[in-house]
Amino acid sequence: MRVYDYLIVGSGPFGATFAYLAKQAGKTCLIIDKRKHVGGNLYCENIAGINVHKYGAHIFHTSNKDVWDFVNQFVEFNRYTNSPIAIYKNELYNLPFNMNTFSKMWGITTPSDARAKIELQIKDLNIADPKNLEEQALKLVGKDIYYKLIKGYTEKQWGRDATEIPAFIIKRLPVRFTYDNNYFNDKYQGIPVGGYNVIIEKLLAGIEVRLNTDFFENKLDLEALADKIVYTGPIDKYFDYCYGELQYRGLRFEHEVMDTDNYQGNAVVNYTEREVPYTRIIEHKHFEFGTQEKTVVTKEYSSDWKQGEEPYYPINDERNQGIYQQYKQLADRSDTVIFGGRLAEYKYYDMHQVFESALNAAQKELQY
Ligand code: FAD
Ligand code: UDP
Repeated sequence: MRVYDYLIVGSGPFGATFAYLAKQAGKTCLIIDKRKHVGGNLYCENIAGINVHKYGAHIFHTSNKDVWDFVNQFVEFNRYTNSPIAIYKNELYNLPFNMNTFSKMWGITTPSDARAKIELQIKDLNIADPKNLEEQALKLVGKDIYYKLIKGYTEKQWGRDATEIPAFIIKRLPVRFTYDNNYFNDKYQGIPVGGYNVIIEKLLAGIEVRLNTDFFENKLDLEALADKIVYTGPIDKYFDYCYGELQYRGLRFEHEVMDTDNYQGNAVVNYTEREVPYTRIIEHKHFEFGTQEKTVVTKEYSSDWKQGEEPYYPINDERNQGIYQQYKQLADRSDTVIFGGRLAEYKYYDMHQVFESALNAAQKELQY
């Protein structure tokens, strides 16, 4: 018997936003999640009085005022600005690549010196149209920065040679000829005061949630409960891998409570050499300027992904894009299932892009 207008599979930002807007429009929703908590990868756990980002550092940033206004209805954001540090064999650099990085690397002081240095390092390479991440990175910042701060980190993160990774991935990072360590160019940035759970709890207020419930373990019964489905899990799994498996990158997090009030002096420290097994160490209290007695740090390890493990990053190379496009055609033909979010749209989305996608999907579906 149909009980709900929508069954929403996944309580991350896409599912929770859609549920909130559907409820506002007078619709009934059941939201399920296979995890034991709501919030998807935004979920935080309070450990030693610190909001610990259990699935990796999450910094909210956007230039979209509609998205910023939407999330600010639910929570206030603090003034945190992401400025990661990169460590390469005990040498320490500021990120993203900017005059502080160039100055430390080459002992120079002016933007024209920095540009000249980069020019000199790449003039023999003749890269007109970069075809992969390695070429793109070399063209942007030259050989020293590529070999010290990019190649090792990238190959750990993606488990393949930097020449096999699409160029757009390195363009996520700004390159600036000013002394500005802000990792993002967006107009708005911050961390929700009290953590991300505050947003998700407010989005889901008054909505029925069933945790520890995997859609595929009880598909027929669950589908029968609602007129329509909003699906935010992996798209290939929904279609039973009929066009083959998409590839993802996996992650492993090692969380540790430490008996010191300040372990590394910054929220995000990247370890860019290949030999250090983790990619970055996160010290969570610094996202909220915490003054607790202890600290919690997380080492993040990137890993090959296998069926049954949590898929974290879509791998947007040509092969996977080709397969995804076939699934997308099936998805576009469905009148009863809406596919949205990082896994169902198979895109390297940040949170603001997921909120934007959910706002658009809800507007189209609910016709307001
Ligand atoms: P998710 O948050 O992944 O939620 C999907 C939910 O669906 C999950 O809870 C999952 O359990 C559930 N689900 C899946 N399959 C099923 C099933 N079969 N049955 C029931 N439930 C199911 N973005 C930023 O803007 N800034 C950052 O700094 C940032 N840092 C990140 C760091 C890391 C390490 C990672 C991995 C991501 C980061 N992101 C960041 C991206 C951000 O996490 C995503 O954009 C966002 O979480 C995607 O939201 P979503 O709703 O699409 O999916
Ligand atoms: N990157 C790098 N060195 C760094 C940080 C990032 O080479 O110290 C590259 C790497 O290829 C990474 C990409 O830039 O995959 C994007 O980095 P971002 O911090 O946006 O990745 P995310 O936080 O999504 O894992």
